Amino acid sequence: MNDEMDGPRRPHVVCVPLPAQGHINPMLKLAKLLHLSGFYITFVHTKFNFDRLVKSNGPNSLKGLQDFRFETISDGLPPQNQRGILDLPDLCRAIPVEGLCSFRQLIAKLVSSTHVPPVTCILSDGVMGFTLKVAQELNIPEFMLFTPSACGMLGYLNLQELEKRGYFPLRDDKNLYDGYLETEIDWIPAMRGIRLKDLPTFFRTSNSSDTMFHYNIDSVNNATKAKGIILNTFEDLEAEVLEAIRIKYPKLYPIGPLQMLLKQLSNSENQLGSIDLNLWKEDDRCITWMDQRDKGSVVYVNFGSLVIMTAKQLTEFAWGLTNSKYHFLWVIRPNLVDCGADVISNDEFVRESEGRGLILGWCPQEKVLGHPSVGGFLTHCGWNSTLESVCEGVPMACWPFFAEQQTNCFYASKKWKVGMEIESDVNREQVERLVRELMGGEKGKEMRNMAVEWKKKAQAATSLGGSSYNNYCNLVLQLKQVNN
Ligand code: UDP
Repeated sequence: MNDEMDGPRRPHVVCVPLPAQGHINPMLKLAKLLHLSGFYITFVHTKFNFDRLVKSNGPNSLKGLQDFRFETISDGLPPQNQRGILDLPDLCRAIPVEGLCSFRQLIAKLVSSTHVPPVTCILSDGVMGFTLKVAQELNIPEFMLFTPSACGMLGYLNLQELEKRGYFPLRDDKNLYDGYLETEIDWIPAMRGIRLKDLPTFFRTSNSSDTMFHYNIDSVNNATKAKGIILNTFEDLEAEVLEAIRIKYPKLYPIGPLQMLLKQLSNSENQLGSIDLNLWKEDDRCITWMDQRDKGSVVYVNFGSLVIMTAKQLTEFAWGLTNSKYHFLWVIRPNLVDCGADVISNDEFVRESEGRGLILGWCPQEKVLGHPSVGGFLTHCGWNSTLESVCEGVPMACWPFFAEQQTNCFYASKKWKVGMEIESDVNREQVERLVRELMGGEKGKEMRNMAVEWKKKAQAATSLGGSSYNNYCNLVLQLKQVNN
């Protein structure tokens, strides 16, 4: 690769996402935005993901540009580790040690290189706090992107309070089933009406030294050392929650939805438009399939990149969808089901759903949500999916699985009125009923109207003079000034 720079030396931002799809995507969007605003970008993958991306998308996919380059660090995990949801605690133990050493070496290499501009800023994922150590050692300013919603963030900021007030650790696992999680939490003023079950799930354990619980608390506390915190949301959507977060992080930049801001600022010559970083091979047959369906007639079903469900849960979704009689496009990742997805290849299901369902392993989600045939989204409420749905004015049936997905679900259904919750103990009758309501019922219509309203507000926020647009301009100013 030719490293030589031409033209003037640019401010150089090193972007470091957590190595998971829901973190890589928003970081990539932000990196593309900064590139458009004149920054030189180094985008850091873990070695494991780099190899996987090349395998899924071909060897040219990570060539980058002369001023948008990819580098790798180690995640500290052995090759046989699956890097799935069950391995998250392993990642959270390994990466602050191995990732730190390897990131330190990478930054040292970049700093001493004459082929790249001097590193002016590290832009790290909020949950990759080890990067702050290197930033401090080398006196490089660091900004952080937290990829959850603001309401999810406020949930994380209150995990410590849950411990102080005795909600964590659980006395025993029975607490998860005895109605305890219905307890209303009335001491977080910006989250009126929230219940314990709607807060990020990492407190749901009787192990007082649980890795994920403490990792998340350490991350939000550590982030106060960053020069600024960036969020993929917009003021109108989460005003009250953002105000509460500003108490902890006064330098807060809500600049979302990033995909809309990117559209707003992109021009036709943008060479980065085609860079996608899908960890699974994208199958775009669905677009032709959707082209043949009526407007608003398809239920789009996708549980993101990390959810792992049981065969029983998959079967209930499958029959609920089939019995609803709507067309459905369903993404079943190769590792979505704990013991394989074979249960839905049985003859009866195939016969019943004949012609109405298309099942794929991974799809271009944003294109799918923007397709006129999509009438509703059955989602796990990951923040990217939720925001992508809102950006396209698509209402949701929500089956939150873990982390802050529960909080997103609470806000989507109770505050923004764009979603309906499916019980965690999913059954086919409920899925059928909610899908019918979502697609053809009165509530579905109301939610669709609300989603369109939020879409308009998101467009206003990211247009010239809107809150996210202005926050982004301020961020760029700060990023350009930090070293002067
Ligand atoms: N995604 C995609 N195709 C798929 C499934 C997911 O492009 O078939 C993208 C989706 O658009 C989103 C991200 O992967 O940007 C998933 O992030 P989210 O926060 O919704 O969920 P997570 O995977 O982190 O649970």
